[in-house]
Amino acid sequence: MEAKIPQDWHRKSATIKFPRELFINGRFVKAMSGKLFATINPATGQILAEIAEGDRYDIDLAVKAARQSFDKGLWVRMSIADRKKIMLRWLELMEKNFNDLALLETLDVGKPIRDSLAVDIPLSINCIRWYAETMDKICDEIAPTGYDSVVMVRREPLGVIGAVLPWNFPLLMATWKIGPILAAGNSLVIKPAEQSPLTTLKIAELAAEAGLPEGVLNVVPGFGETAGQALGKHMDVDCLAFTGSTEVGKYFLRYAGDSNMKRVSLECGGKSPNIVMADAPNLDVAATAAAWGIFYNQGEACSAGSRLLVEEKIKDRFLEKVIAITKKIKLGDPLDPNTGIGAIIDQKQMQRVLGYIDIGQKEGAKLLCGGKRAIEASGGYFVEPTVFDRVQPNMKIAQEEIFGPVLSVITFKDAEEAVRIANNTIYGLAAAVWTSDITKAFRTTQALRAGTIWVNSYDDGNMAMPFGGFKQSGFGRDKSLHALDKYTDWKSVWVNLKTS
Ligand code: NAP
Ligand code: MG
Repeated sequence: MEAKIPQDWHRKSATIKFPRELFINGRFVKAMSGKLFATINPATGQILAEIAEGDRYDIDLAVKAARQSFDKGLWVRMSIADRKKIMLRWLELMEKNFNDLALLETLDVGKPIRDSLAVDIPLSINCIRWYAETMDKICDEIAPTGYDSVVMVRREPLGVIGAVLPWNFPLLMATWKIGPILAAGNSLVIKPAEQSPLTTLKIAELAAEAGLPEGVLNVVPGFGETAGQALGKHMDVDCLAFTGSTEVGKYFLRYAGDSNMKRVSLECGGKSPNIVMADAPNLDVAATAAAWGIFYNQGEACSAGSRLLVEEKIKDRFLEKVIAITKKIKLGDPLDPNTGIGAIIDQKQMQRVLGYIDIGQKEGAKLLCGGKRAIEASGGYFVEPTVFDRVQPNMKIAQEEIFGPVLSVITFKDAEEAVRIANNTIYGLAAAVWTSDITKAFRTTQALRAGTIWVNSYDDGNMAMPFGGFKQSGFGRDKSLHALDKYTDWKSVWVNLKTS
């Protein structure tokens, strides 16, 4: 890690180098079409860099490179000890470039530098480290048979994996895929979101420097309808790992059906309920978690606690606390280390968020704070943290994923009603319940239909804990050993020992 955290991130951003080309077969290359597209700084609305725009021809080249590296066994047949050495060298390079990675992430997506430094980059590095460490600790199986035979049940890599990714946690979502994909011995092609190609390109370059064989990790920035679709429909991609919206996730199921029946795993959207019972152990702690559960990362988090379900009799008292905390959060320049809420990713998403705020008011919800665009003179896309009270469970702002700093507050009378409201959306990514009653806590976790449930906490997790959704939040799990299931298959080998 660089020894010192810079004091002046603006000064550092004037000299930082942007990766600008596609990363295919171990090197940076131009797009075959020669086309470029702009990546914008959401805090200023200005162009940060022109990036090579990959399309289906570039995807095809990248898939060929990945296939060749896999078929030649450049990675998969390397000894585990050597693979681990490369992964560890790669981690050292990421740590050496820690501040640059944090700055690239903040400039590209508008998130506060303090979050890039404390969360995105360290968790991304930790993810790669965790999977590097699993490689020499996972054993295959021997199935029980009689004396005269042996059955080996071996976990084998699938081959070439495609990953199509979102912009909200660009590097972290990339490493959630890269870690288990490489640990299992596959090669891969990543299509980052068009808004956020920089950090993924940067770590691909560092991987090559660390000695990852060419073709094993390829990154093709470009657009969803062209490059993303080409990867989804490619006949030589064995598996497609997607993180993004539910709407686009469904396309990938179709692409698989229309092409080679590749496996698909989907990490999609959410509308996660955060349920606060009157007997919560500490309302101040719960209020802080409720505010940060939605406003962290400008509300652009798949697991954001965007529906706050509060027991009727404590609602007013509890909301006062949430609003007081919200008003203390500093909204503004992402490069200021004191900023807690930065810019929304782009103009289109900002308009979408403001549109939902408008809908909420028209539907009859009560605006308690926020509701407007902020610091417009910066040219950036800032939206005030917004809280709606008196939200009915069937309103649009209680049903649809806004993906912005907008909290919808709904009241309930008892645990049964809370669960009914909580489960009443198409999503099932995450949920939380706050109570001191252990039976109520367990019963609620049993009844909630979500992939992750927190009790007396919001958004905690570690690498050992799988992450993913129920219902239309998708299927398949990131993180933990379960992520390996998506990128491997079991091969059974029956060996007959009887010679006569
Ligand atoms: P998105 O619009 O669904 O885009 C995700 C990726 O799909 C992008 O790379 C996008 O390319 C690509 N894409 C778009 N249209 C496509 C098409 N027709 N064919 C193939 N690929 C296509 O999602 P987003 O706006 O980037 O991210 C926000 C969403 O991600 C939210 O719904 C959020 O909940 C979800 N998310 C889920 C998780 C999770 O773990 N469950 C984590 C983070 C985010 P372009 O960039 O060109 O549009
Ligand atoms: Mg950008």
